[in-house]
Order: sequence, then structure tokens, then C-alpha cells
Amino acid sequence: MRSIFLYFFIAITTIQLNAQAAYWQQEVSYNMQIDMNVESNQFKGIQKLVYKNNSPDTLNKVFYHLYYNAFQPGSMMDVRSRTISDPDSRVGARIAALKDDEIGYQKINKLSQDGKKLTFKVVGTILEVELAKPILPGASTSFTMDFEAQVPLQVRRTGRDNKEGIRYSMTQWYPKMVEYDKQGWHANPYIGREFHGVWGNFDVAITIDSKYILGATGYLENANEIGYGYADENIEIEHGEKLTWKFTAPMVHDFAWVADPDFTHKTTELDNGTTLHFLYQADSNTTNWDSLPHFAVKIFEEMNQTFGEYPYKQYTVAQGGDGGMEYPMLTLITGHRSKGSLVGVTAHEAIHSWYQLLLATNESLYPWMDEGFTSYAEDVILPSILPKYKPFSGSYRSYFNLVESGKQEVLTTHADHYKTNRAYGVASYSMGLIFCHQLSYIVGYDVFLKGMKRYFNEWKYKHPTPNDFIRIIEKESGLELDWYLNQWIASTNTIDYGIKWMKEEDGLTTLTLEKIGELPMPLDIYVKYKNGKEEWINIPLRIMSGNKLKESNMGEYRVSEAWPWTYNLYELKLSSKIDNIESIVIDPSERMADINRENNTYPLKNDKIFKTK
Ligand SMILES: [Zn+2]
Repeated sequence: MRSIFLYFFIAITTIQLNAQAAYWQQEVSYNMQIDMNVESNQFKGIQKLVYKNNSPDTLNKVFYHLYYNAFQPGSMMDVRSRTISDPDSRVGARIAALKDDEIGYQKINKLSQDGKKLTFKVVGTILEVELAKPILPGASTSFTMDFEAQVPLQVRRTGRDNKEGIRYSMTQWYPKMVEYDKQGWHANPYIGREFHGVWGNFDVAITIDSKYILGATGYLENANEIGYGYADENIEIEHGEKLTWKFTAPMVHDFAWVADPDFTHKTTELDNGTTLHFLYQADSNTTNWDSLPHFAVKIFEEMNQTFGEYPYKQYTVAQGGDGGMEYPMLTLITGHRSKGSLVGVTAHEAIHSWYQLLLATNESLYPWMDEGFTSYAEDVILPSILPKYKPFSGSYRSYFNLVESGKQEVLTTHADHYKTNRAYGVASYSMGLIFCHQLSYIVGYDVFLKGMKRYFNEWKYKHPTPNDFIRIIEKESGLELDWYLNQWIASTNTIDYGIKWMKEEDGLTTLTLEKIGELPMPLDIYVKYKNGKEEWINIPLRIMSGNKLKESNMGEYRVSEAWPWTYNLYELKLSSKIDNIESIVIDPSERMADINRENNTYPLKNDKIFKTK
């Protein structure tokens, strides 16, 4: 009895240990047949889904997102959009004003699991499903759903008839399986931003009025029945009243499409064989689209080289939506733009192919990891593509202004729960960008970029967390960086270092540095001497257990003794008289988000200099 008990105890403990150590993610395969009615803006769908439970848990329930239900007066999204203190002008009270034929909905007519009818409940934008039989760890099950939907008038991202006259921006348009991961279910009510989905394969057939031209996630499988610039040029195609477009998309976590009868379709190719598609209404407002293929090729080439190779064989830039939004192998952007704005938004959305669509972080929990990393990569690659582009400084300004306003919130806030749209925006885009740029300051630029590539190679097609990312940079740099992740995302602590005073004794200068802000950082001190000599001195933090190596733009470099962060003052010795020093700057690269840079430089006011001869 006792030995059997002991055996089971050991067996269970071993399984648990393995389950905790190993990464796992759920898998899904969608097969959807959609019949679209362009008169009523409604469609019918049959969805067959195979779901594999790779978790160590037995599942008794599953959930689906029904995003369209958000576009109804009184929905959580409607109320949130009208009551937040700084409403998004693209939403405001527009949902409250939707008429019956303008609202969105997804109605589930029938749902079964492995042939057995299921009971379910619709709660706003979430479908809750009691399973007929539990899904055991490692087991697969199939769901068959019969549903119908009405496409809402375009309000935020998804919908019909956007302000530029694109008929269908079909995003968040189908009942989508909710992700279950180490943190459990993410049946997040949709109130307007951020997504998280299950990795898998899509097989989607869309039957629609044959005058419509489509773009979508995935590969068009029946191009020679379609034409419209997708087929070989010599093929003659006669269309009936309706046409079925068949797409497949391997290893993605969402599927979106766009359709309009007036689309012009152009393509171009990268050297590695990836085809870029462009769909837009060619008129006097979209003349800048003529040169977009040229710029898009450069964007992909730069990204492939610096941040890891885009693995899919197609990407589509389509006019649609209400600004710019990323989907796998597809972006919808508004098209009436200046050249700089058109190239900028295309770059931003295309770069999301790396940060979110391949490195599929949970956007609701860590919006700074997709928006911030995307904004960072954008600022790294765009200056070589758009010579007038000014990188980085705008994000620092937004952050400094938010700090000054007192409205800053911690980056660990769930995207839906920020008190203001502004705090969400600055945290996600600006502070996320600064997180990266500042980390490149801590570990060195080349080391950081190598880390970014390693992050891509080790975590693509998965759901990395902040800790997974910082571990990569720790391994690449050999430094301990958990303090930085924690301080930057889980506190509103700020950085302020300054030059306190200088002393001269026996012909040598002692520079006293002061830590004024709560957030500790390693320092780069740049010293220029009157004889033309330059020196970079790195002061690491003791909690880093190491120091960064010389960066490629630095001249003479030395590492000073590590700074224990609880000390407010630090004395740095310079082997020169004060009079021989021309200037001193703390962090001349300005990558450190020091909220007061006025105290970062010498020459100082005279009353702070004490000379002893
Ligand atoms: Zn973005």
C-alpha cells in the first residue's frame, strides 16, 4: 500500500514538474465556408474546427469571441467609448447611433462537438460552450458551427463602407476560438482594442458577388478561376453572378479579408520570392500608392536583414479600415495619405508581422510588447528609407509629457483597463519603444540587435511573455536585467541622474554624480578634453553582475566600479585638471529616459565647482 502510494506520488510530481518546465500552446484548424450577400451585408457561415488541447489540463468548457456583437447600442464597447474621459474620436458615440441594419451581430444557429449537439450561452462578445465530453490533455476534438452574421457599419477597424468608401473591411468577423494558455482562458470582452488568438491553420472559402476583388490572410488557392491580377495573364475567365475565393493560411492566429468592386490590384516581388500585393481604389486621393511597392520592398528587406526573415510567401497592403491595423499576411490602412504618412503606416503595420503576428504576445496583457517593439523597429529602419524621418525623440517627448501630467500608469495594466486612452497610448507605443532603445543603451546596441534576432528565431510562432524576452537579452548580454524589466513595466519610477559637483585635488578631478530619480540605471559618461582627447566611461550597476562592452561608435572606453543603487552619490576620478576638461555629458546617446537632462552636462554653474590646489 505504502509503496504504491509512494509510486503514485513520484509519478504525479514528475508530471507536474515537466508540465511546469515545458512550454505548450493550443492548436486549431479552421475550415470555413462563407456565403456573402452584398445587398443585405449579411453572410452565412459553416465553420468546422479541430481543436487540440496541448495543455496539461482537462477542459470542460470552451469559449469563442463574437466581436461583431460589440457594435450594438449599449454594448460594453459602446458604454466604454462614451464614458472614458478622453474618447477615441473614431468611436465616441457612433455605436450608440447605429440603426438595425447598421449594427453588427454574430448569431450561432447550431453547434456540435464530434457530432453531439452542444448547449451554449452568448454573453456580449463571448460565446460560452459547455462541452459534451471533456477534452483531455493531448486530445483533439472537432466543433461544427452553423452561424450567420451582419457586417456592422465601419466604426473601429472592422465593418462595411468605411469613410473612404471601401465596402468590406472584414476583421474580427468570424466566431474565433478563445486562447487558453499558462494563464488560463482569455475570454476577454471586446471593448475596442487588442487581440490574442490560438495558433493554427485556416482554410476559408468566400462566395461573393463576382464583381468584388478580395485580399486576405493566406494564399489564394484558385487564382486561375479568379483573375483580377491573381491569375496568369493569358487565362480568359468568365465569371457567373457569384464567385468563390479559396484561401489557405498555415500557422497564423487570425484570418482577415477585404473586398471592394473598385480595387486596383498590383504586385511586386522580393528577392527571396515573397510576393507583395497592393489593393486600393486608384483615384486622385491615392496617387502616392504608385510608389508604395518600391518602399514596401525596402521595408521588408530591412526587416528581414535586421530583425529576422519574414517566413510567409505573401503580404497584402489593402486600403480599408480606419487608420492602420495589422493582421497575418495582411494590413488594412486608410489610403488618402501623403507619401511620408503612407510609407510610415505601411512600415508600422508590416513590422507587426514580426511583433505580434509571429511573436504573438498577448496584446491585452502586454500591449507595449507589440506596439512598442514595432515602433522601435520602425525607428531603426525608417531613417534609411525616408531620409527626413526623425526617429526616437518624439516617443521620449510623449513619455516626459505624460510623466509631467501625473497621468502615467504602469505598463502591467491590462490594455482595456487604462484610465485614459492617452496613458494606454504612451505606455504601449512610446514607453514600449523606450524599453527597447534604453535596453540597447544598457547592454550595447549590437548586442541588443543580436538579441532581437535571437528572440525572433526562438519565439516565432509562439506566445512569448515579458520574462521570455528579457531572458533572451540576459543570455545574449551575459547581464542580469530582471531589475530593469520590473522597474520599467511594474512601476512608475523615473530616471534622473545629474552632475552634483566637481573637485580638483593634486591636479586630478573628482566628478560627483547624483542619483535623483528612483529608477537606477548604468551610466555612460562622455568626457571631452581641451587637447582633443575623448573618453567614454561606463558605470555599471552592481545588480547587473557585469557591464556592457564598448559600443562601435565609442572611442577610448573604460569601465568604472559598479554603482550600488542604494547610494545616492558616486565619485568618478578623472586624471586631469578641471581646466583641461572641455565638456562632460551623461549619456550623450540620449537613449536613457532621464526626465531632467539639464543637470547632465558640464560646464556647470560656477558655484558648484570647488577647486583645492
Ligand atoms: Zn501598431
